[in-house]
Amino acid sequence: MRVNDANEQSSRERASQRMARVADRTAGAVGAARSVAQGRVLTHEGVLALQRAAGNAAVGRLLARQPTTPASEDDLMDPFELTPEEEAQIEARAAQAKIDMRERVLAALEGGAGVGFLGRLRDLPWGQRRILQADQEFWARVRKRISGLAVWAVQVALQYGTRSPSQVDALRAAVHEGNWLRTRQLIMAYPDLKAVEGLRAVITHRFDARQAQDILAVIAEGGRRWEAGARSYQEAHYEAGTLVKFTGTRDYELVRLNTQLRVIVKIRLQDDPSNKAAAISDKAVARWEDGINRRWNGKFRLRNGANTLDVWFLPIFVYREGAVHHTVNVLPGEGGRSSEHQWHESDSADTAAHEFGHMIGNPDEYNLPGSMAEIPASMGLSDAEKRRSSWEGLTGKPAAQTNEGYDMTNLMGAHYLDASVRARHGWDVLEVFNAHLRRPGENAWTIELKK
Ligand SMILES: [Zn+2]
Repeated sequence: MRVNDANEQSSRERASQRMARVADRTAGAVGAARSVAQGRVLTHEGVLALQRAAGNAAVGRLLARQPTTPASEDDLMDPFELTPEEEAQIEARAAQAKIDMRERVLAALEGGAGVGFLGRLRDLPWGQRRILQADQEFWARVRKRISGLAVWAVQVALQYGTRSPSQVDALRAAVHEGNWLRTRQLIMAYPDLKAVEGLRAVITHRFDARQAQDILAVIAEGGRRWEAGARSYQEAHYEAGTLVKFTGTRDYELVRLNTQLRVIVKIRLQDDPSNKAAAISDKAVARWEDGINRRWNGKFRLRNGANTLDVWFLPIFVYREGAVHHTVNVLPGEGGRSSEHQWHESDSADTAAHEFGHMIGNPDEYNLPGSMAEIPASMGLSDAEKRRSSWEGLTGKPAAQTNEGYDMTNLMGAHYLDASVRARHGWDVLEVFNAHLRRPGENAWTIELKK
């Protein structure tokens, strides 16, 4: 299938509008620089202004003279006393330079087997990449040689150069392998991906009609977003006969849509520094994703009178730098015990779902003290934390003190017996939602389990 020309056309129009804006700004900067020079006061600021002007005006004089080498000081000195003829000459040279640049770049595509073409595009400075984005002849000739995913690669190379954000690289990989689920999830999690040039066209090209429609709907959806922010919480439970305090951290992002509340949790998986070989396998990640989906999704609903929002949890595993909510060190094999931020390669689906529960604010519910009073004040838990971290708080009835504590039977407790969730496991999400995503005039929402 051919890439959508109408879309491409409009993106070129946008690019040329951007070019025009750059040219406007540049004219102002050149004027300022010129007046500095006419007063023969060549200040540091004046030189900087010129450099900015020269750098931004990719259609400018510098490009005309020396398209491949950086500006020397001489180049920066002489636009001050130009006659109209000289300015016309400069414009003509700039136009020629554009052509030269286009030919130089296209030679790699048209001359050989396309080897080095993308690399050459990425290495161009920002201004030159903007020029090519708006160059209709460039695109016409590119499309004679390549189509579909390859055209998209050219668009992305021109948009980002050598510095594409890691989510853009992840998106490219997902689209290339035709991974519908990963593609839609990445766009949900990183709304800035909607600005990737040619995205709609390549989605239509790469996926079957039903999947493409779904992803296009995700691109079109709005929703109000709210970052919950990192917040630590404390809990207490028995370990080898002693009551011990533990600290967890919740962090995630909420997106309120018309019928859904999405809970996005970006989790970076990284090999523990002590690993001799990579411990993160596709198989393990698929197991964990599956576990989290199975235990958390389709379970919760927010309610406000007759209005409801389904709660949908979206773990996004990432492997490179970039902003994430949680970082997990992964160790090989089964090893010892896992915790919120340290997992083992062979951890089960339910273990991943349990640790995910910590990431959205839930304390453990095993080996619990029988009563709130059993938790010494010196541990510093708040009353709310004591309630969530004791048999008494969770059941309403205190139990006698023991040195091994009491287990609730659910995902956050003895999950090997029963890995189901309880309505209270959405408490943190509900609290953040009510505090930040409630509409004016709305009463507080409640959370419930779906039947
Ligand atoms: Zn735990």
